[in-house]
Parts: sequence; C-alpha cells; structure tokens
Amino acid sequence: MQLKLEAFTVDNIPLIKKGDDLAALICENTGIQDNDIVVIASTIVSKSEGRTFVLDGIVPTQPALEIACKNGEDPRFIQAVLDRSRECLVESPILLVETLNGHVCIKAGIDNSNVENGLLLELPKDPDASAKQIVEGIHKITSKRVSVIITDTNGRAFKIGQTGVAIGLSNIAPIKNWCGEKDLFGRVLEITEEGVADEIAGTANLLMGEGDGGNPVVIIRGLEMYVDIDVTIKETYRPDGEDVVRKGLRCL
Ligand code: GDP
Ligand code: MN
Ligand code: MN
Repeated sequence: MQLKLEAFTVDNIPLIKKGDDLAALICENTGIQDNDIVVIASTIVSKSEGRTFVLDGIVPTQPALEIACKNGEDPRFIQAVLDRSRECLVESPILLVETLNGHVCIKAGIDNSNVENGLLLELPKDPDASAKQIVEGIHKITSKRVSVIITDTNGRAFKIGQTGVAIGLSNIAPIKNWCGEKDLFGRVLEITEEGVADEIAGTANLLMGEGDGGNPVVIIRGLEMYVDIDVTIKETYRPDGEDVVRKGLRCL
C-alpha cells in the first residue's frame, strides 16, 4: 500500500508580538482539519509569550564569570543561561545545559535570531502548556481536534547538521513503541522506540528553514497520530541514571 503525508506552510503569519493569539492567526490563514499536526517554531511561541530580554542589568555570578573566561562569551549572557538551567553539562567550547524543563541543548535555547536587534529570546516557559493552549484555542475556533508540536533547532551529538526537534507537544505521543511488532521475517522487535515527535519536527523544519523565510507554522496532514490523553515531551528525556552520555560528560 502506498503511504503518503502532506506538509505545508501556513502563509501570512505576521511578525509576532507579545500577546498575539497564535491559534487565531493559524485558523485565519489555513483550513484546519481533524487530526492535523500543527508544528510551530518555538521562536514565535516565545515572542507571543513576551519572552524577550536584554543583558543590561544582569549581574554575573562567580560561576558565570569563570565560564565566560573559558569560552569568551559575555558573562551576563552566561548568567542568563545558568538562570534558566538545572545543570551545566559542558562549559566550553560549547555551553551545553539541561534547561529547567529538562531539555538538553546549547545555551538553554537562548538566541537572537529572528528577533529585533539588541533583544534575546528564551524558550517558552512550559512548552507543553503552550502547545495545549494552542490546541484548545484551535478547537474553540474551528471545533477541530488537532495535535500541536512546538519545535526548536538543535545540534546533535556525533553529527554535523542541526535539525528541528520537539520541545513541547499536546495530543500526540512523542514515542512510538514498536516492541512486540514483527519485522519482515516474523521476528518480534524487542527494543525499538521511534522518536516520532522529533521526526515530525525535523520534517516541518525542512519547510520552516532557519532564516528569513517567515514560515514558523507547518501543518503535517495524513499521519493520524492524534491521541486524547495527557502527553508530555518529558517522556522523551532519558532518566538521569540511565544516561551514559551524561555520565561520561560529568567525568570530563
Ligand atoms: P526556531 O527554530 O524556533 O528557533 O525558529 P527560527 O528562528 O529558526 O525560525 C523558524 C522560521 O520561522 C523561519 O522561517 C523564520 O523566518 C520564521 N519566523 C521567526 N519569527 C517569525 C515571526 O515572528 N513571524 C513569521 N512570519 N515568521 C517568523
Ligand atoms: Mn531557536
Ligand atoms: Mn530554527
């Protein structure tokens, strides 16, 4: 059987400002259907939630000053990253942290790309909650049941090339468990768990791009992965004690 999915951008999304209603903007600019997966760049979620800030007035602590000496960054910026992190896994040459939400990424996801000069943008405070709010907003406007995935662009260990990853979601399970399914030769699969939320994020990111395309929202249609139970991206975060990579980094 031929399998097929559609991926398309939602056009005419403006430059997002604090207080903008993303659900309304999405519904105004596309025909939403049941089971659509609405993939949204975290950048616009953060902007709508007013998560911009400036370095002026941030007073770096001793750890921030020490890290800044190693990697040459502005110590106030390092402080801003530390303030949003639970643990610093690598200080230099990359600043790799676990954010307060449990997402491991460079610089706590703070950056200045696609924001006005002088401003920095941090990740949404609770991306699962943001996703849920947009799901509910879309339902209110259209009566359609959709899934939402909020994405960011992250680098990867071991490989060159950044990709879209899921940092928050609602109404879609982030992992598809293949255990118990059979392969082509009837062998029962024992360990394969597919990270579907990241795969969808990566697919959507192909259309979003990273620059001035102005395409922060992509609809994925045809996957039928809607679930009506509480889900969280945190299911994908490997428990500390089982994470050999983290263990290795702590020995650096
Ligand atoms: P991130 O991956 O969440 O950090 O977002 P990016 O900065 O890589 O942007 C992803 C896409 O969204 C790109 O096509 C940007 O041009 C676009 N984008 C970012 N901010 C806005 C905005 O406020 N309005 C619109 N229309 N597009 C935006
Ligand atoms: Mn980003
Ligand atoms: Mn991006």
